[in-house]
Amino acid sequence: MSQDCIFCKIIAGQIPSAKIYDQGGVYAFLDIAPVNKGHALVVPKKHYATLFDLPDDLGREMLAALKNVGRAVMTATGASGLNVGMNNYESAGQLVHHAHFHLIPRHDGDGLTLWTQHAYESTEEMRKLAQAIAAALG
Ligand code: AMP
Ligand code: ZN
Repeated sequence: MSQDCIFCKIIAGQIPSAKIYDQGGVYAFLDIAPVNKGHALVVPKKHYATLFDLPDDLGREMLAALKNVGRAVMTATGASGLNVGMNNYESAGQLVHHAHFHLIPRHDGDGLTLWTQHAYESTEEMRKLAQAIAAALG
């Protein structure tokens, strides 16, 4: 447990949460400021800061929980879609430094717009970047 982490305190029961799921190494609860009602957060019970810190076996357990909780969020809210999101590091909007996935129920015409997309300057620029990323793979 990280002493100054709000999600660790929620998991330890020191701060109240609207709990949905508590199994194995995974906990899920409602986001206090939902994008849409039913917006849930799925988190590892142990403190890991980002996606890159999560052990792979826990990642598998989290994927199963995301599917299970995601289906339940859709059923309970009557949603016809679901966004799964994760912010890693402050530049990407991560405010709580305990890894977590957002499950956001979506409804036709709910008006939520996601990020703006842009064009590459050329297919050459795009191809070079794909090569650079492939070369950086571990
Ligand atoms: P992120 O920007 O990805 O780090 O998201 C952190 C999320 O945690 C935000 O959507 C907050 O609304 C949510 N949050 C912060 N404190 C609490 C809390 N005490 N209970 C439930 N959700 C919270
Ligand atoms: Zn934590």
